[in-house]
Amino acid sequence: MSNLACPCGSELYSECCQALHLGQKKAETAAQLMRSRYSAFAKQEIDYIVKTTALGQQHALDVKAIADWSKANQWLKLEVVQAQEKLDKNHAQVEFKAHYSALDGADQSLQIHHEVSHFVKFENTWYFLDPTTDQQVTMKQPCICGLGKKFKQCCAQYL
Ligand code: ZN
Repeated sequence: MSNLACPCGSELYSECCQALHLGQKKAETAAQLMRSRYSAFAKQEIDYIVKTTALGQQHALDVKAIADWSKANQWLKLEVVQAQEKLDKNHAQVEFKAHYSALDGADQSLQIHHEVSHFVKFENTWYFLDPTTDQQVTMKQPCICGLGKKFKQCCAQYL
């Protein structure tokens, strides 16, 4: 893969995920956001990973751990298995496989991370719902995404 190629698999980074990483363009679909987040891991665009996580989760992210994980691996390939852009009005699901291998250490064999991720759309912007962060909201409190519904009736269903 040349340096010009986009990590998410298209030919040119400059015509694909780069504009999203630079904030010049927003992801139009959850699948596009997913691809750009994978590319952000490959390009070590850690701010982008943080910014595209649900608003109420960003403070709980371990930014150093994300940066270390991004740097520790070679990001080889992304496969989007399937995307359901309309689980409901504001939620989507994307199933993907990220192929990577560790840059150092004894085991540098190919790893495949297979995940079904969920996304929420708030004010026309897609955000990733991180199932690993500590939500610190009760089911009755306003949702972490900003939509204003109770957590229970909103993103909690997808976490
Ligand atoms: Zn929500």
